[in-house]
Amino acid sequence: MTKTLQTSVLIVGGGPVGHALAHDLGMRSIDCVLIEQNGPKTDHPKASAINARSMEFMRRWGLAENIRKTAAPEGFPHTALYCTGLNGFEIARIERPGHGGKAPSKDSPERAQRCNQLWLDPLLREAAGSHASVKIFYHCRFDSLEERSTDVLAHATLLEGHDQLTVAAAYVVDCSGGHSPIKRSFGIEWEGAEQIGYHVSIFMRAPELWKYHDKGPAALITFVDERGAWRNLVLLDGRELYRLGIRDKAAYDDPDGIDKEALFRKAVGRDDVPHEFISTARWVARNVVSTGYRRGRVFMAGDAAHLNHPASGIGLNTGLGDIWDLGWKLEAVIKGWGGSGLLDAYEPERRAVALRNVGNAQASHANDRALKPHPEIAMDTEAGARSRKEMGETILSKQTKKFITDGIALGYRYANSAIVCPDGTPEPINDISVYHPTSWPGARAPHAWVSEGQSTLDLFGRGFHLLNFGGADGSALEAALADRGAPVSSTPIDDPQIAGLYERKHVLVRPDGHVAWRGDSLPDDPVAVADTIRGA
Ligand SMILES: Cc1cc2nc3c(=O)[nH]c(=O)nc-3n(C[C@H](O)[C@H](O)[C@H](O)COP(=O)(O)OP(=O)(O)OC[C@H]3O[C@@H](n4cnc5c(N)ncnc54)[C@H](O)[C@@H]3O)c2cc1C
Repeated sequence: MTKTLQTSVLIVGGGPVGHALAHDLGMRSIDCVLIEQNGPKTDHPKASAINARSMEFMRRWGLAENIRKTAAPEGFPHTALYCTGLNGFEIARIERPGHGGKAPSKDSPERAQRCNQLWLDPLLREAAGSHASVKIFYHCRFDSLEERSTDVLAHATLLEGHDQLTVAAAYVVDCSGGHSPIKRSFGIEWEGAEQIGYHVSIFMRAPELWKYHDKGPAALITFVDERGAWRNLVLLDGRELYRLGIRDKAAYDDPDGIDKEALFRKAVGRDDVPHEFISTARWVARNVVSTGYRRGRVFMAGDAAHLNHPASGIGLNTGLGDIWDLGWKLEAVIKGWGGSGLLDAYEPERRAVALRNVGNAQASHANDRALKPHPEIAMDTEAGARSRKEMGETILSKQTKKFITDGIALGYRYANSAIVCPDGTPEPINDISVYHPTSWPGARAPHAWVSEGQSTLDLFGRGFHLLNFGGADGSALEAALADRGAPVSSTPIDDPQIAGLYERKHVLVRPDGHVAWRGDSLPDDPVAVADTIRGA
């Protein structure tokens, strides 16, 4: 039997990115269908590091509080530690005081959290499923699609019962991950470093492990021995759950042959620590970006568009950024107030971000691989001590930006986007580790508190939003957008500190919180600005 459906957006793939898009579209009352070949479950841990920008999305999506509740306990340190063993020698320690907990940072109303997909995915699934306009089919495998002039016809199999599902969709978003069948069928290639490492991750329980060593609690522990940095231990819940990771081709080829007990014993340096192994998974690390993000009515997002070595903790964050960018554009085009230029801007805007993020992951990976330890690195000898000191200095100077990526999280911009109006000023400093607030067109509009608990970011959402500082009148620009049917609102702000942060008397912000236009006086032709930023 074939079941046939019609929808505005078909989402292929129900990982975190697919579900987040379904929730985002649901909040916009855009009807969509999501199909996922597996059931609604996440049983092996992948992403934990949810950066501050992703937490800002979660805030908008009404999920931030729940994520904080399920994340590692507030006081748990987000420390990244390099050592020869938990009862061995410490080599380097990178603290991340800006991460975790409730207190907002100066740059964002939200802080980075550690909330593994074991807990994040169910929250996203529940949120996506809460909308009447969102239909979700689990155990439903996408098989093929046909591009037609006014829509796309997708064919899928309902795996429990073997019925067929045909979906006619105005747009398709491919969120089917790194092995995307859609990308493959289009012949779209990856660009970058394929197969940079073969890994196995072992999900395990070791309650209060920190009581059995002197290094204190830490979120990420990288172990170094004479072979280099090939093992790590990643905190999942701040209590007892961990992911023990190894980079080893032989282990990847024969995961059943891994002596897990010996591995754990070596990492901890003693054999009396209570523990239990839960599951094992293997994966290949790649630092690649898709050569194309779009074909016709089909868009790629998340791991279907870019993959990076997970040690940098930005794969999922970059994927959430993709659909944050795409959601409002789809809404605008479907509701008729956005022109086709909005969708044309998706690939140039997001691909540039992925190239930057994946490039940083590649550099971090190369720096870790370049750590060539002395044969005595783990020994209590003079040569061992010297090599640990040298390695520690190298790690601090080169790898801090692997763990502190505020510039990646908050500082990404859509420079040269066709739907942003440049103002002729040079691009301000852009750093990996440090975020420099700016209202430069294309940048994320800065955070400041406008009232108790209300950030400037809370003003931005479904439509355009004009901030007018010091009594400036922006009504002509608002009227130009409203005339074109675009949702628009405005806020007058008198606070001189916020005015200084925003740098201009008028700053027009897109629904995704990025600056579309700014000026000290209104443009001579407000309609031309309105048409540019709505992609007409
Ligand atoms: C060990 C590890 C640690 C990581 N840590 C971090 C981190 O700390 N921070 C971070 O930002 N990122 C991290 N990542 C990366 C992160 O997990 C991924 O970027 C993220 O899961 C991608 O989500 P996605 O929804 O794009 O793709 P996926 O999670 O791969 O989801 C794709 C979905 O599509 C489905 N699908 C595929 N083909 C079909 C089909 N034919 N029909 C129907 N459904 C289909 C799949 O079943 C799957 O559910 C880590 C990854 C690993 C492996």
